[in-house]
Amino acid sequence: MNKYFKIALSCFCIYVFISCSSIRFPENEYHIFTGKSEWTATEKHCCNLAISNLPSADSTYIVFKKAKIKSMGQAQPMIRTILKNRQDRIYIISVRDKKVNPNLCFETIPDSAKIGLVGHEIVHVLDFKSKSFPEIIVMGLKYSFSHKYKRNVEWITDSLTIANNMGYENLCFSNYIYNSPFVSKKYLKKKAKYYMTPDDMRNIIYTLSQLRTEQDTMPDNQILH
Ligand SMILES: [Zn+2]
Repeated sequence: MNKYFKIALSCFCIYVFISCSSIRFPENEYHIFTGKSEWTATEKHCCNLAISNLPSADSTYIVFKKAKIKSMGQAQPMIRTILKNRQDRIYIISVRDKKVNPNLCFETIPDSAKIGLVGHEIVHVLDFKSKSFPEIIVMGLKYSFSHKYKRNVEWITDSLTIANNMGYENLCFSNYIYNSPFVSKKYLKKKAKYYMTPDDMRNIIYTLSQLRTEQDTMPDNQILH
């Protein structure tokens, strides 16, 4: 066996072993809140509202974690559960802790923006859940190395967040980021490269509302399902 492969395999096993000693879910509960800082009742409520907007999110194991991350939010499968049956996997949604930047973190964004941010991350989780282990690995590689693929994933994720009744909330988060004096130009440039801008979101929200209005006024036999 190649020496470097053995080292990589050992590191992976140690990592899995360390991960195994952590998270425990209370019986019949699918969501837990953890991390550097305490979660307030309002913050948990925002997460629960986002969960209620997305099919099967209420029966998906998710750890909501306040963490020291560069972005405002991120989603990933928990490594030690990645080989399990999709239904039994655990996913981690990290949001930026106030210790990273007290002016720009989960605590300081408006409540509607919290729902939009968490809703977007749950859409990523449900996408992971729909994939097998090899599919997740391929997706991770393509996401890391192809700008076009990453942009497609983020646009689809934003579109699904909007389509699942969180258009205003997603727009609220994006607007906040684009107008905050604490956001660097470098971060905004990256955001515009991969994610919808507030204008893109407004256009999609408007188009979707038009389509829904048209459908509501259509005779029953012409409604598209
Ligand atoms: Zn995303």
